[in-house]
Amino acid sequence: MLPLDAITRVECFIISLPREVPYLGPLREGENINEKGYVIRSGNRSIYPTSDMSVLIKVTAESGKVGWGETYGIVAPQAVKAIIDEVLGPVMIGRDPCAPVVLHEDLYDLMRVRGFFGGYYVDALAGVDIAVWDLFGKITGKPVASLLGGQRHTQLPAYVSGLPKATLQERCDLAASWVAKGYRGVKFAAAVSDGIEREMAALREAVGPDVDLMVDLHWKFTSGEAIRLIKRLEAYNLYFAEAPCEPEDMEGQKLVARAIGSPLALGEEWRTSFEYRPRFEARCMSIIQPEMGHTGITEFLHIGRMAHAFHVDTIPHASIGIGIFMAASLQASAALKRVPYHEYQHSIFDGNLRYVTGDMGCAAGFYQVPTGPGLGVEPREEVFNYLLKA
Ligand code: MG
Repeated sequence: MLPLDAITRVECFIISLPREVPYLGPLREGENINEKGYVIRSGNRSIYPTSDMSVLIKVTAESGKVGWGETYGIVAPQAVKAIIDEVLGPVMIGRDPCAPVVLHEDLYDLMRVRGFFGGYYVDALAGVDIAVWDLFGKITGKPVASLLGGQRHTQLPAYVSGLPKATLQERCDLAASWVAKGYRGVKFAAAVSDGIEREMAALREAVGPDVDLMVDLHWKFTSGEAIRLIKRLEAYNLYFAEAPCEPEDMEGQKLVARAIGSPLALGEEWRTSFEYRPRFEARCMSIIQPEMGHTGITEFLHIGRMAHAFHVDTIPHASIGIGIFMAASLQASAALKRVPYHEYQHSIFDGNLRYVTGDMGCAAGFYQVPTGPGLGVEPREEVFNYLLKA
């Protein structure tokens, strides 16, 4: 047994990286950036930042070894930082980083009876959980995937997510250019399309019959509308339909899953196995899309094992970050059996790769799972030039 290398310090940093084109593509008519730098996308009525926001967590052990985590903080990241600085960090001091699941359970318990089993509290917990797993890997000298029951994959198929161009012709050309680079799956976004069926038809024409085409419906429809629409898209060989109904509408999700002939993919907004469980039981989806920035490694694995029990595929979500939780998502996915794809947000991942160390990458249709120890990536020093001042 290793001697205890207890946690001595927990720090949290908010990073704001400038980007040239806003996430989801150029602004559309009526979309304006407010004084805090956010924009509301008219297509799905959701608020987005115009820079790449990230919340980084650094956990230091007595030996001086360091673990890095990152969480979902794209809107009001100050809320996550306050939870880490005030609640989670101080409780972690003195704890064993080689017992990450035990620590995760104890930190979840701190606020659960007050109803904080979702939202910002669990996002904060996800970030520190990733950092603790990284530290565990550094102490033992092993990649995180090998600590999760064994590393099954060294690379994972990547599907191209989002076509951030202003016109349909440009989006079709962009999709075709990714296919020419060796990618076999492409997803388009309903939030920024000029007609979903028209977009699907044009994309199918552009990429040919053998590419997997997916659509993110961005929670826009009632179950009835979604069923009618998805059935029309199936004429163009749809690989999966994502998030057709509002997040709370479990009945609607179930109705759509039953009525359509293609797989339904759900789950980027859920954080814990407790949220997934009733949806698995109701057979609301046949693909789950856990987001590492919301779940952390511990819950991602709980959810992934549950998917295994329900014979459901895992195609993890990818969000805005500098690459630390992407590395965690690849490590955890590498330990799961059925992962036909991992989402690839090229407009975020490629640009931000320069801010992390290690051999993580994505090329010719495949992610390279970073080699350890730990996550296999760390933030580079220059990231801290972009610290958001409170
Ligand atoms: Mg989505």
